[in-house]
Amino acid sequence: MPVIGLTCGSEMTSHGTIDHRVNEDYVRAVAAAGAVPVLLPPLHDPAQVDGFLSFLDGLVLPGGVDVDPAYYSEEPLHSLGQVDPDRDESELALTRAALAQGVPVLGICRGIQLLNVAAGGSLYQDLEVQMKASIKHEQQAPRWYPTHEVRLDVSSKLYEILGQEVLRVNSFHHQAVKIPGEGFLVAAKARDGVIEAIESRDHPFAIGVQWHVECLWEREPLFARLFARLVAEAKNYQVRRMARAEAATESAAASRCETR
Ligand code: MN
Repeated sequence: MPVIGLTCGSEMTSHGTIDHRVNEDYVRAVAAAGAVPVLLPPLHDPAQVDGFLSFLDGLVLPGGVDVDPAYYSEEPLHSLGQVDPDRDESELALTRAALAQGVPVLGICRGIQLLNVAAGGSLYQDLEVQMKASIKHEQQAPRWYPTHEVRLDVSSKLYEILGQEVLRVNSFHHQAVKIPGEGFLVAAKARDGVIEAIESRDHPFAIGVQWHVECLWEREPLFARLFARLVAEAKNYQVRRMARAEAATESAAASRCETR
């Protein structure tokens, strides 16, 4: 079974300590699709962040607080939300390494934004202030309830997976992708022009969606296809990862024999 990592957010407890956590909806979505979900705390040491990739076959970047705009060379606006420097640093390093190594990546909400910044793209820090977006993207309806429409690019991988040009999705964001990162294409937009999905042109599976698909798949089976494809891609990647590990063990054994 492929192993899929989920990056954690941080939360201050009433004791003044920090908890690392992931919403259960992500864990259930990944497990139901047939992978082993593993929670990944933020780490400072880049070597340890790289170490995650020695056992991961896929990566989910969940929702959370805003990415520090310094990472896309902007000063913070008044309406910027909470920022988590440790999470930014660790998640960006991990995502860049995952992109470089061809590890399947699914970004959700903050995750699409993080994925885009990791690829060198930029964000709207606040849709209402900077884009005058006309649609309500911070819905007050239940999390599982789709409130606005998105239109998929029919030439996108996302369309190939979901098979429907127009979808209704939920919406809990005040930021969005502004300029897609290097090698990324816009895969879906809302009617007001807000970018709702991006995907890598060259990477086998690096997709970001602005909506919370982990809250939709149980009531709308169409969305389960996204997790199913992530797991299928993770299985393919696992074969390559195992072969690499085996080759490394063999060459280590060979060099031990030579030195004897
Ligand atoms: Mn939206």
